[in-house]
This record gives sequence, structure tokens and C-alpha cells, in this order.
Amino acid sequence: MVKETGYYDTLGVKPNATPDEIKKAYRKLALKYHPDKNPNEGERFKLISQAYEVLSDPKKRDIYDQGGEQAIKDGGMSGGNFSSPMDIFDMFFGGGGRMNREKRGKNVVHQLSVSLEEIYNGSSRKLALQKNVVCDKCEGRGGKKGAVEKCTTCKGRGIQIHVQQIGPGMVQQIQTMCSECRGEGERINPKDRCKQCNGNKVVREKKILEVHIKKGMKDGQKIVFHGEGDQEPGLEPGDVVIVLDQREHELYQRQDNNLIMKMEIQLVEALCGFKKTIETMDGRTLLITSHPGEVINHGHLKCIQNEGMPLQRDPFEKGLLIIQFLVTFPENNWLAIEKLRLLEALLPPREDVMVTDDMDVVELMEFDPREQSRQYRGEAYQEDDRPRSGVQCQTS
Ligand SMILES: [Zn+2]
Ligand SMILES: [Zn+2]
Repeated sequence: MVKETGYYDTLGVKPNATPDEIKKAYRKLALKYHPDKNPNEGERFKLISQAYEVLSDPKKRDIYDQGGEQAIKDGGMSGGNFSSPMDIFDMFFGGGGRMNREKRGKNVVHQLSVSLEEIYNGSSRKLALQKNVVCDKCEGRGGKKGAVEKCTTCKGRGIQIHVQQIGPGMVQQIQTMCSECRGEGERINPKDRCKQCNGNKVVREKKILEVHIKKGMKDGQKIVFHGEGDQEPGLEPGDVVIVLDQREHELYQRQDNNLIMKMEIQLVEALCGFKKTIETMDGRTLLITSHPGEVINHGHLKCIQNEGMPLQRDPFEKGLLIIQFLVTFPENNWLAIEKLRLLEALLPPREDVMVTDDMDVVELMEFDPREQSRQYRGEAYQEDDRPRSGVQCQTS
């Protein structure tokens, strides 16, 4: 039992989530709420990164599980100092890193939703992105040579100071970024401004990136386009990082290089053998056989070699296709009682029970776990006068 679930709730995972599940949850949320995409969700982005910072570290997670957020703030995190959300993000997505940040523009991270088929077969996708490119007309100067002058509005300081009266005899000074030069302290004389970029030094351009999804790539894998990030004069552009996000497949579930599927079979098939077909993701049909005499239990696992996911290093080699069999039993009263006796004679014998007088004869009822949990949450107790329906298996 954990003390609090706040951090788990923030990431939308259960308290018993595996490190992988925590990573995946962070990945999805961090990309969704990154200030580049969602400027109004800064606080949310911060909370997500704090939760991840704690839960991704086994020691800190342990402290949190035992003592909750207070324990983290009290000691585990040296006074509750969290890393900056951007640093966590850059670390996770392998960004340019702190050292290079001044010389390089920032990386742009995009999530690309892909189907399991695309990863199984390999595919390529065209992605249209908008990016800043250094204006070729003014070579990134924003205007004619020598047109740059000190901003007259802020006198080259890049900030403006406003004085505001907030009460009788009380004034407040507010510093804001200079709107004229956008904090740069210099500006280009309007009459010398480059017509193409309007003095912005960069122009927005559409760029098509072709993303090659290689066979066997993994969910969360990054495909990096070096130097394809936004351009800025005097800076080396950052990278465009594409993060694969694999959608759930209706039949197959991936686990590393293996594929897992469920297959329903009838009781007769479980006992007397069967032939079944499976459609592969590259359009082939596999024929599987369970031979007469072989019994398949409910939940039984079998596998087929070399029909799982292709390995990325060698796509001709594949993992396992694991099949879990689910046995469908016949409905109540599916067979007349006299015929049941015939069936019984064929089946392995049952075990007889000695019935004695001192036994309590009780009734066996249907049990619905969902109904039960609704009762625990108190919903069934709110209106006491009404007769209760559903589960009546109570211990008292
Ligand atoms: Zn220009
Ligand atoms: Zn200015």
C-alpha cells in the first residue's frame, strides 16, 4: 500500500505501474502538454515532470510510497528542489543538453502515431512541418547592412519599466520585455527593414520530412533529423526528433519482439482437436492444428516460432507469436439430461462426496465483481428503504 497516489494520478498510472509504464505515461503527457504545443498548460507540464522525476527514480519512488509528497519535500529531494521541467524533458528526449544550448537552437519533438502493421512491415511517412529558416534576402540581418540601431524605446536595455499607482501614495514598478525590440535592445530602422522577413531575420517555411519506419522499431523509439529544427541567425539549428507512438492493435499485443494474441475455441475443439487460421500483418494466412487427443485448457499458452515482430537488427528474423486459448463452454441446459449421462460416461470420472447430516446446505449464487465494488463505494447504501437487487452474498 502506498501512502498517497497524487504523483501516480498525475501520470495516469496505477501505484503498481512498472518503470516502463511510467516512462510511457510521461512520454505521452510531456509531449501533449509541452509549452510549445500547449502554452496555457505550463503548470500541468511542471506537475507532470515533478511526478516523473520522483517516480522514475527507484529511491525517490520508495520514499514517496512510504511517506507521500511531504517526505519528498522534507528530505528526499533536498528541500523539495525539483529539476526544471525543461531539463527533465530534454533528458528524456535526448535534447541538445545544457552545454550546447547556448550555441544550438532547441530541438523540436513530435510524436508520430503509427500502427503495429507499419512497424511490422516497415513504412515511410511524409510529415509536413513549419519551421523558421534564416531569411536569404537579408542573410538573417533583418534589414540592410548597417541598418541596426539601438532601440529608442528601451534605450538598448531590452526592458521597459512601467510605474503603476496601486493605492494612495503607493506605486509599483513593473518590468516587461520591450515590445518594440522584443527584448533584444536593438532594432532595425523601419525604412530599412527587409521586405521578405519584415525585419524578423527568419521566415516560416513548410518542410516535408520523410520518416522511415524500419521493421521492428519500438514504441517510443526516436528518429532524429539532425539540424532540421528552427533556424536562428548565429545559432546552429537543433534537431527534429520524431517519437513513435504505437497504437493498440485489435488482435495483436506486442511484448518486446513477441506478439501475443487471444484465440477463442469451443469446448469440442479444446477436447477433440481443431484446425484454425490466423491472418498475419503481411497478408499471409497461417494454419494451426491441435491434434485429436491433445487437450487445450482455458488460458493455455502455445507459440509459433518466427511469427512475432521482426527484429530491428535483422528483419528476416522474428520473435514468437504467442497464442492464449480461451475455451468457450456451452450454455446452461445445452443438452438434455439423458444425453448428459451419455456424455458423463465418456468423460473422466467425477469425485464423489460423502454427504453427512451435520453439513450446512447453502446456495450457490452468481457473483458479479462489478456489482460488489459498487457496493463498497457506498452507492448501494445511500437509499436504505429500497430493496437491493443484485448481489446478496453478504457475510453477516
Ligand atoms: Zn530578411
Ligand atoms: Zn527596445
